[in-house]
Amino acid sequence: MRLILIGPPGSGKGTQAKLLSQKFGLCHFSTGDILREAIRLGTAAGKQAQPYLSSGRLVPDDLVNEMVAERFRRDDRLDKFVMDGYPRTLAQAASFDQVLRQHFLDLTVAVVLLVPDQEIVRRLSGRRSCPKCQATFHVAFKPPRVPEHCDECGSTLAQRDDDREETIRKRLQIYHQNTGDLVGHYRAQGLLREVDGTGTPDQVFTEIAGFS
Ligand code: AMP
Repeated sequence: MRLILIGPPGSGKGTQAKLLSQKFGLCHFSTGDILREAIRLGTAAGKQAQPYLSSGRLVPDDLVNEMVAERFRRDDRLDKFVMDGYPRTLAQAASFDQVLRQHFLDLTVAVVLLVPDQEIVRRLSGRRSCPKCQATFHVAFKPPRVPEHCDECGSTLAQRDDDREETIRKRLQIYHQNTGDLVGHYRAQGLLREVDGTGTPDQVFTEIAGFS
């Protein structure tokens, strides 16, 4: 299965990607996680990306496109994957098409998770994540067993800089600006499936798994 997840920030792409990778043995490829790790390590790419992430803007296409192309060039080639947060623009989709062609890989499906903006703001402003193992929690919907501490590794949980309300609104605006073209691109290829992202994670997962 080779799958792309499209959806606004907080629509559950990360949660679904994790479930799909466990269930189907897919590689979970999250450009957001890779960029946050690059920032944490202080690499050149991380230094370039940092101001974009903290203000909720998209990192330039060339930087993420190269990051993805480089990963596909490695020896342990990605044969089965779930893309979480890439591509996000039409230019990224065009670049990704080219990478896939070079490696003789076809996409199975491009899934769009539909969640209203109001629900996104509610979800993201309560989101907390573990800076060490990336596990995510929510102060109301999925509280950790020990307040403010990760259930998986015990680290102190943090709120992502870009999960503050005004940054969330900016990220939503950017999402809506780019998504029409992106969705149109995959619809034209007959690959697009729309899924209601407001159900429970299990309900959403069952629907996506049905496309395999
Ligand atoms: P995410 O964890 O997917 O919500 O991504 C967090 C942030 O990383 C985004 O707000 C962007 O600043 C950056 N980012 C992640 N993926 C991409 C991408 N495909 N293109 C551009 N910027 C990205």
